[in-house]
Amino acid sequence: MEGQAPDRGLYFPEKIPQLDAGFIQQIEKHSNESIAVEVIRPYVGDCIPRNELQRIVEETVNFDIPLVKINDKISSLELFHGPTLAFKDMGARFMSRCLGYFARDNHEERIVLVATSGDTGGAVADGFYKVEGVKVVILYPSGKVSNVQESQLTSLGNNIHALEIDGTFDDCQQMVKGAFMDEGLKRSLKLTSANSINVARWLPQQFYYFFLWKQWADKNNPPVVAVPSGNFGNICAGLLASASGLPIKNFIAACNANDTVPRFFETGTYEPHKTIPTLSNAMDVSDPSNFVRILEIFQHKEAAFKAAFETDTITDEATKSTLLSVFEQDKYLLDPHGAVAHTALNSYLETNPAKKGVILETAHPVKFYDVIEPITHQKVPVPAAVKAQLKKRQAGIKMNADPEALKSFLLEL
Ligand SMILES: *Cc1c(COP(=O)(O)O)cnc(C)c1O
Repeated sequence: MEGQAPDRGLYFPEKIPQLDAGFIQQIEKHSNESIAVEVIRPYVGDCIPRNELQRIVEETVNFDIPLVKINDKISSLELFHGPTLAFKDMGARFMSRCLGYFARDNHEERIVLVATSGDTGGAVADGFYKVEGVKVVILYPSGKVSNVQESQLTSLGNNIHALEIDGTFDDCQQMVKGAFMDEGLKRSLKLTSANSINVARWLPQQFYYFFLWKQWADKNNPPVVAVPSGNFGNICAGLLASASGLPIKNFIAACNANDTVPRFFETGTYEPHKTIPTLSNAMDVSDPSNFVRILEIFQHKEAAFKAAFETDTITDEATKSTLLSVFEQDKYLLDPHGAVAHTALNSYLETNPAKKGVILETAHPVKFYDVIEPITHQKVPVPAAVKAQLKKRQAGIKMNADPEALKSFLLEL
């Protein structure tokens, strides 16, 4: 219920559970639902009964997560077949159903407040749509999200309120942080955050690394997994899965120009710069919240940590050129985030020719058709569901980047 711990740190498991070796060996025999229950149960303990957890998980993993071959060396784990076409559906669906379960008994209305640069908002809106006892308020920067993303935020209505902020993503985030710290609001409202610092969004992101292992044919030669990284929640979930017994042990954090972590690997100094806008906008994060969790997994031992994953910084130019060449040579359409991962993986495989790798394709290319079409000079096919969604697009409620305006909005909700 509380995204952040009272001391302003992040919640982290007291100990990392070790999964049964037999279960891992027999993974192909298990359904995705039963894998997910097995993975999450040690973290849930007794606070949700088994049958309720089963239902929550079934509603979370009810879409395909196929492993698709791009070429002999590289496959793509497509995480974009959920309702809002991005991997954030997994965490958001799990979190919303947990909150729905807890809200059911205590009759207290909750407001989920979230700032989004695009994908988080859509996944949270969809996950919480019509959940009893919960209202959702999403702040997004005017003119800086794609058409598909904006329609996902604004077309639902009901308990979902989208605020179009005249400012940047950082302004939205500042307003949200301000609301969480406001004593007056704290007294009169129950506010909950829904970004990846919330454990209920972060922990279920482990699931698809296990689904990947289930589909990986050559069990004697585990893949290197390249994760397009922004706030580092996704890769951190992979590292946690690995620490609890998943046989995948090599990861690459692929970053765009927002390269705080790659620079940290090189220089040993953690020094965020101002956020730089790029083509892979969901990764435009300069001070990744989940980085401390990665340090924690490796007990702050720099050597252990550097052995477990590599980092790479990919320019927009390289991203475009990968997107085009993979489309032309392999007939596979990447989205800009997947293209960052592909570029990093490809360069890793050049120096490690015995290995094979997987990229996490974190969003459907149609979400970024406005970026892709000028690169490929071809139309990105728009699925029927997305066409219908675009028609329902409405304007958000316009608001200045003013914390007081948000405060009065919340009090009147
Ligand atoms: C959020 C997002 C990312 C970055 O994931 P993190 O967990 O923040 O590192 C990458 N790609 C897409 C499409 C996203 O929406």
